[in-house]
Amino acid sequence: MCPDHGNEGILDVEYDYEMIRQSISPRLLANNKMCNQWRYRAILPVLPDTPAPPLSVGWTPLYNASRLGRTMGLSSLWVKDDSRQPTGSLKDRASALAVMKAREAGASVITTASTGNAAAALAGMCAADGMPCVIFVPQTAPRAKVAQLLAYGAHVFLVEGSYDDAFELCLEAAAEFGWYNRNTGFNPYMAEGKKTVAYEICEQLDWQCPDRVFVGVGDGCIISALHKGFFDMLRLGWINKLPKLMGVQSTGSDFMYQAWKAQADPVTFPPIKANTLADSISAGLPRDRRKAMNSVSQTDGAFLRVSDDAILKAIPELAQTTGVFAEPAGATPLAGLHAAMADGLIETNEKVVLLVTGSGLKDVDATIRTCSTEATVIPPSLAAIKSSMPNI
Ligand SMILES: *Cc1c(COP(=O)(O)O)cnc(C)c1O
Repeated sequence: MCPDHGNEGILDVEYDYEMIRQSISPRLLANNKMCNQWRYRAILPVLPDTPAPPLSVGWTPLYNASRLGRTMGLSSLWVKDDSRQPTGSLKDRASALAVMKAREAGASVITTASTGNAAAALAGMCAADGMPCVIFVPQTAPRAKVAQLLAYGAHVFLVEGSYDDAFELCLEAAAEFGWYNRNTGFNPYMAEGKKTVAYEICEQLDWQCPDRVFVGVGDGCIISALHKGFFDMLRLGWINKLPKLMGVQSTGSDFMYQAWKAQADPVTFPPIKANTLADSISAGLPRDRRKAMNSVSQTDGAFLRVSDDAILKAIPELAQTTGVFAEPAGATPLAGLHAAMADGLIETNEKVVLLVTGSGLKDVDATIRTCSTEATVIPPSLAAIKSSMPNI
């Protein structure tokens, strides 16, 4: 953090692009057989001999979603599937880097506050690496999410209070006990890990940069990381423009949308009360709001908001047209694309990428709510099938 600005002053990592250009390029990458995010290690803030945790992070598939694109009237639609990460969300990109930075700092314990994917990602990376971690979650955290943490062997404290109470306690504990602090909205290296998704998108598109990328926005770290990644590539001459970044929020958690619409300074804009079933993008006061606002305004993008109903509908739509099963926050970009199409924001020949940030298996209850069409109960006989034969 900037000593003069405290929590408002999350630092940014700067690079010597001239030097980096010597060791990594699209041509060199074409011969690099490493199928994880460390293929971009030359543009990541880690020392040359720091070992990466052994789980394979990154190089997730980018699917050509032509069938979904056709139904929406788009000629070039792509789905970047980060539900395929080792612990089921894009957060693994950041947590892998956290473990490495903790090792470099000589720390022997890592900590974070989170109710969800960031904690799971940290717990998984630490388990793979053999590093202990301490997680602070509000006592009300969903049991399934706490179970994933415990399965990975994390030390979990259920804090009697809100997420903000857990966050504050985590900061205090990190300072008191010398633990390495992975919190989003505190640790600038987290965006550095997450930016690798932007490199992958461009490399997988043969360095033809997309026109737009849609992403769900809560704290605003992922959209800021996309911005950083595309900016790096522009500076390195790998691409010749930035895509428009489209930040999608739930109407129940629309701080960034409101501040953007009002053309207000997000730093002084008043917090809202967040209430959305897309828990991974629920944030009353997004901790990376300044960078998130810059990401949209500096790429000529937009913030959009969609209802929880629209988010829920997007889960089976995405699953049925692409085979990719997302948690609510991961299907939110598709709901946002629908909203942008309805508003006439998009030309039909634009190249659009939807970033699916988390797996549907993270939040089975949400899926049960969306797939209301009941399965048919039958006795075990062919006759029973014939009498209720599906129309296929
Ligand atoms: C964390 C997360 C987001 C939102 O990222 P922010 O950096 O908080 O904006 C979106 N989707 C999933 C699945 C996440 O875990």
